[in-house]
Amino acid sequence: MFRRSPQVILTQIFHKIFPPKTQKLPVYQLGNSVLREIAQPISDVSDREIQQLIDEMLITLHESKGVGLAAPQVGRSLQLVIIASHANARYPNAPEMEPMAMINPQIIAHSPEIEKDWEGCLSVPMIRGLVPRYRQIEVEYTDRQGDRQTIKLVDFVARIFQHEYDHLQGKVFLDRVETNRDLFSEAEYHKILQDL
Ligand code: ZN
Repeated sequence: MFRRSPQVILTQIFHKIFPPKTQKLPVYQLGNSVLREIAQPISDVSDREIQQLIDEMLITLHESKGVGLAAPQVGRSLQLVIIASHANARYPNAPEMEPMAMINPQIIAHSPEIEKDWEGCLSVPMIRGLVPRYRQIEVEYTDRQGDRQTIKLVDFVARIFQHEYDHLQGKVFLDRVETNRDLFSEAEYHKILQDL
């Protein structure tokens, strides 16, 4: 156990009486230095500010209709990602899942196979790219209750995770394409989808 300062205790009492409003957060865009920092591990998952951040990221992801979000994208350089696969134009068979908050995640194993497929990013608007990713990964992470978990992810969900995990290392998908020729405008990407 560690002692909390009187100021922290007062803040906690204040928040108990006046719960902070959970609202959508601004998403930081490419060029902001927070997207290039190495995110810090979270030591206390039960911390009220961390739980509040998770709730705000869930709302931000839902309202942005995204499938994944990393804390650095909302300006917090912390090892926290949310993945939330759902069916979309490119992946009509993508599994529907409850959004999952993953704290201090690590990739502990991966398949030898790598697949290239389309990605976009809320922090890189109007650009899509063909990005190589491991097809299958095994991930260890802490859930929002504070329990350490291990999970196997495949295909689209594995891709989402690897994309979000990169954000914790200060990387974006543009850093992962094999050639700049694999980068497309949103309009050209939609033309390709229609031709499929
Ligand atoms: Zn992203």
